[in-house]
Amino acid sequence: MATALGAQGLHQPRWVAWNDALAQAMGWPADWRSADAPSALDVFSGNALWPGMEPVATVYSGHQFGVWAGQLGDGRVLLLGDLQTNCGAQEIQLKGAGATPYSRRADGRAVLRSSIREFLCSEAMHGLGIPTTRALCLTASAQAVRRETMETAAVVTRVAPSFIRFGHFEHFAHSGENGHHEVLQSLLDFVIEHHLAEHRQAPNRALALLQSAVDRTADLMAAWQAVGFCHGVMNTDNMSILGLTIDYGPFGFLDGFDPQHICNHSDDRGRYAWQNQPQIGYWNLHALAQALMPLLAPSKDAEQAMVEVLKSYEQRFADAMRDRWRAKLGLSTQQPDDGKLAVDLLSLMAEQRADFTITFRRLCDYRADLAPEVPANAPLRDLFLNRPGFDAWARRYAARLAMEGGTDASAQTPRHERMRRVNPLYILRNHMAETAIRRAQAGEDSEVRRLHQLLQRPFDEQAGCELDADFPPDWAQAIEVSCSS
Ligand code: AMP
Ligand code: MG
Repeated sequence: MATALGAQGLHQPRWVAWNDALAQAMGWPADWRSADAPSALDVFSGNALWPGMEPVATVYSGHQFGVWAGQLGDGRVLLLGDLQTNCGAQEIQLKGAGATPYSRRADGRAVLRSSIREFLCSEAMHGLGIPTTRALCLTASAQAVRRETMETAAVVTRVAPSFIRFGHFEHFAHSGENGHHEVLQSLLDFVIEHHLAEHRQAPNRALALLQSAVDRTADLMAAWQAVGFCHGVMNTDNMSILGLTIDYGPFGFLDGFDPQHICNHSDDRGRYAWQNQPQIGYWNLHALAQALMPLLAPSKDAEQAMVEVLKSYEQRFADAMRDRWRAKLGLSTQQPDDGKLAVDLLSLMAEQRADFTITFRRLCDYRADLAPEVPANAPLRDLFLNRPGFDAWARRYAARLAMEGGTDASAQTPRHERMRRVNPLYILRNHMAETAIRRAQAGEDSEVRRLHQLLQRPFDEQAGCELDADFPPDWAQAIEVSCSS
């Protein structure tokens, strides 16, 4: 399943950014970057290995943009091995350390631009409390890499309990010949034994794995929607079997709310538009179910059981999504019309292209005990040109809050505080990443590190960071993000 390899490291590497909080959580010493012989810089730029590290690249396949793409595999990723850490066993990968047997005709490199985006967004997602692969550090070099223009190379070190994708299962389902699916079975057993111990005794491991993937994917899709995150390339090879956000490429957070927003410039049909993501998660789970099929006894009952597990996605997602919207609105009890209240706010926002993050953050401070028209409520109300529409919604909102006795949104009330824990003040907007990228490309990496610090605590107001919480500047609209990375 994996091929042993040597890395092709960066020439004259430098540290761009590093994650002491993650190193500390894993139980590493504070001076982990000073480790010598070989140095940490050499290891995390692909130039050397510490004892016990045995780089491999794994093979997987997948559906890209809805079409079977055949064999893909880690074309520019090396798995260095797994480590016992204070947060459980973790796999460590280098992304961009050179070609592998699965590079096809590509160079095995990652450019600084996309590596900064991956480093920052992994940690931003973690800060938001959303399951994700993590980023331990980012190293770079002046070494040239050809994309649309000449760029420079970088290596992101990623950490996760597992990087196994739906596409790994699809690969071995597809390559198992004449009903021989021993490798597929071992992959299933490996994932259950190592990562889903609660299902070890399950009567049917394939169904148990699918149920776990259904539940985690549904929860992940709801979590993404609730912060306005668009992944951009939800191909089945970019879907984690553990429900982690994985493979940060042309992702984007919504600025002005447009449910049809397409963040990936290469996605001309909008398959992965923001509002399609939950449905695409479901589509991808069908591909996973198909891949697990050979492990079920061929019977109508087994097929039916598989269908039932898949179908449970719809309810799981609907429940998770409703809970997320309710929390974003600061509702602590359940009422039948809560979903409608959220959807109607989203419709108003879409009509105005109101900024997704700013609208919800201002809603935290909305004084529902006062009329919508009072000056105290202007910051939110002024986001909507359709004042009558907003006022009508705001009155329903106030009435709904009154049902749970929480109309007062002044600083100390629980509703205000609760809402500030789920409605972030800071997200990684494209223009913020772009500014950090341009500076780093010019040799100044400090903006990457500043954003990393900021995004570790996206819900807390941080001194001197007012601009980071503001509307995007006009030039942000011209930023195009594609699969090129
Ligand atoms: P992605 O769309 O980034 O998930 O990548 C799809 C596939 O292309 C994966 O198998 C990657 O490993 C591979 N790939 C992307 N970029 C490169 C590259 N520069 N060199 C080698 N393989 C790559
Ligand atoms: Mg990928």
